[in-house]
Amino acid sequence: MTNIFDSSKENSILKDERFLYPDFVPDQLPFRDAEIGEIVFGLKPAAHGKKPTNIFIAGKPGTGKTASAKFVLNELEEYSDRAKPLYINCFEINTRYAILAKATNFFGFPVPNRGLGSQEIFERFLAVIKNKKIVPILIFDEAEQLLKNEDSKKLLYDLSRLAEQFKIFAGLLFISNDEKFLSFLDERIRSSLNASKIVFEKYSALQLKEILKERAQYAFFSNVLEDEVIPLCAAHASKEGDARIAIESLLKASRFAERENAQKVSVKHVRKAFMEEKPVKFEITENLSEQEQLVLDFVAEKEVSAGDLYKALCKKFAERTLRKAVSDLEKKGLLVTEKTKKGKGHSRIIRRNSPNCSKK
Ligand code: ADP
Ligand code: MG
Repeated sequence: MTNIFDSSKENSILKDERFLYPDFVPDQLPFRDAEIGEIVFGLKPAAHGKKPTNIFIAGKPGTGKTASAKFVLNELEEYSDRAKPLYINCFEINTRYAILAKATNFFGFPVPNRGLGSQEIFERFLAVIKNKKIVPILIFDEAEQLLKNEDSKKLLYDLSRLAEQFKIFAGLLFISNDEKFLSFLDERIRSSLNASKIVFEKYSALQLKEILKERAQYAFFSNVLEDEVIPLCAAHASKEGDARIAIESLLKASRFAERENAQKVSVKHVRKAFMEEKPVKFEITENLSEQEQLVLDFVAEKEVSAGDLYKALCKKFAERTLRKAVSDLEKKGLLVTEKTKKGKGHSRIIRRNSPNCSKK
């Protein structure tokens, strides 16, 4: 018996889909030369044992911040033994201890993942830098996560004083979708960091098209994309200017095409990929009345007819009250109603505006 995962069919469209994964770092980043140049300029002194400039990279999601930073740090690693770049995603690791321990380990002094005192771990971190005569470059991606508690804010304070107090040259690179990140720091931290800001602008549809073309060369066999496919993915993502959205929809569309055993990826597959995209999450910030909440819960994730809804809830509220609740929820964008023909008359179908709708 053959296993159900065992398919004799070879992929005929995707040559190597890893080139379309979100964390893939391409060795060419078109339209980011100037930004990459600025990062290089700021960090270059580190390669010669001097004090690099601290940098803050700001920009909307999918504008190439992470990819550019990783690209630069890979190059720096190759170029210099002095500079030691360490990438930290602050969604994954964000306590002062965990970050200092990770860095100290990475720079070459093994320390336990827990158990040392708050001063002791910092001293070991200082010791490894001095001992190994390195210039650490710490890259904090999703850096706004560090502002969420006092413990990680203390880390920023400690790091901001490295040069002045401990005569240690380090480069700090903060990356955030929040352009105001620096302004949330304490005045004294901000002024000691003295970071220069580099803003990554959204990509235009034209730029997204070029980026997709570049990536597609590696990911696909030749001539498997219909002409409209890349422009369509680019146009779709151009409102947000987000290369991740563009690349993801291309990947999704091509998987649909392969699943169907199609010869080529076509507009039809791309449209299907768009449909599958998770609707934008929105949170209910307004206070809902009791009847509104009840209606929303009743509708839940399915479609219901207005008649069924009134019937089900009529013990608690009059139909008039429920009608008003439905119409108010529709105005708030939480429900959608649609007229349908039913027998002789008309009926109303009600459903949630987004299946991901979450309550606060
Ligand atoms: P951000 O960190 O700003 O949210 P990323 O750097 O993660 O964005 O980029 C999102 C995706 O788009 C990644 O797959 C990345 O490789 C790709 N990407 C972004 N900019 C470019 C570019 N200029 N050229 C090629 N690929 C890019
Ligand atoms: Mg990123």
